[in-house]
Amino acid sequence: MTTEAANGAGAGVVIAGGGLAAQRCAETLRRLGYEGRVRMVCAEPHLPYDRPPLSKAVLGDAAAEDSVAFRPADWYSGKAIEALRGVAASALDAGAHRLALSDGSAIHYDQLVVATGAKPRMLPAFAEYDNVSTLRTLEDSRAIRELLAARARLLIIGAGFIGQEVASGARAAGAEVTVIEAEPLPLHGILGREIGEWFAALHRGEGVELVLGQTVAQIHGASRVQAVTLDEGRRVAADHVLIAIGVVAELDWLAGSGLPAAGIPTDAGGRSELPDVYAAGDAAAFFDAFLGRHALSGHWESAGRQGAAVAHAIVGRPLPTPALSSFWSDQYGTRIQYLGHAQLADRVTLDGDRDARDFTAVYTRDGEPVAALVVGRPQALPDLRDRLRYLTERPPE
Ligand code: FAD
Repeated sequence: MTTEAANGAGAGVVIAGGGLAAQRCAETLRRLGYEGRVRMVCAEPHLPYDRPPLSKAVLGDAAAEDSVAFRPADWYSGKAIEALRGVAASALDAGAHRLALSDGSAIHYDQLVVATGAKPRMLPAFAEYDNVSTLRTLEDSRAIRELLAARARLLIIGAGFIGQEVASGARAAGAEVTVIEAEPLPLHGILGREIGEWFAALHRGEGVELVLGQTVAQIHGASRVQAVTLDEGRRVAADHVLIAIGVVAELDWLAGSGLPAAGIPTDAGGRSELPDVYAAGDAAAFFDAFLGRHALSGHWESAGRQGAAVAHAIVGRPLPTPALSSFWSDQYGTRIQYLGHAQLADRVTLDGDRDARDFTAVYTRDGEPVAALVVGRPQALPDLRDRLRYLTERPPE
């Protein structure tokens, strides 16, 4: 094992991870004038790239891969940001300020930022089959695109945003798609009955076979899934199965470090309980002042803002405004945008034309807006953002 000189001057900031949170952290450090060494440890062979296009444009168009990189290679050298590619962080010794890497080497840091993101959950019963995948990386997306081009019959398990977006991309490619969802409606637990019904109608109207309130009782096939039997006895044939049932933080490598594997609790500047160890993005559970607890985000805007917040904390600058919980999705050519915490609501009011995919749903609690879903009207977003901005602050006593 090779090991760098011990902790001390010059170790600088090491960022474990090479996604959006890592990128924003590195960029912000330089923008704020940080002159120390900055290294990103990126498990993937690529420079940092953007994931939302992987379930959208990249599924339908190989050329869309060209625009997923956040920055060209020369940007990193120009900013003196060292991106170590194809090597993973494998263990942390926080006392020694030392990060072990998958190639057997180890590096020291003055500050460590954990930004290793999340990984898709897998259903154990499907794990050993050859024609089963999840969607997180560029390679995953490319493989699905190739299957769709070959008109493979796709079985998607899970009608969350990723499952829905892949269903949309598959229909655009002319593929047959069945989506199986255990909940009574898509996104029912997050967005409620009215919006769940709208999503169900959207997909069915586009030719997706959407099976709700069902799980897989039996898998047929030897090394490849050929069909599944659902709880109620129905058999569904498939050429490929996509498991899209959510993500868990990618933190197994921190076992034994004292940090929890389910998401690292941090303050508003991304500081963890361990000295000089910060976290950002899908691997972090930032303290949410409004909810009064640590919360995982799992969404793009939060990951970027948290990466920037960590950079501010490291250089000792005032923290930027926290992110309002938000998400967007593109399905069948319509943009769907979501802000806030719909789970807090006791009422939802819809305004607009659901059939025309042009409406706003405002979720309220005791008459106060706590969340909004905007379909096909991005111009409505700035005003709703202003109305919901208070959700990023501590509520009055
Ligand atoms: P990631 O982007 O996951 O980056 C983490 C990086 O760290 C990865 O490159 C990973 O390989 C690397 N890594 C993992 N372990 C290690 C290790 N041990 N050592 C070194 N490196 C490691 N959000 C939205 O708000 N809207 C959307 O429309 C949307 N669409 C999405 C579509 C897809 C297909 C996916 C997968 C996600 C989507 N998201 C969307 C979520 C959004 O992309 C994530 O919230 C965001 O990427 C999180 O950024 P991150 O940097 O925390 O993690």
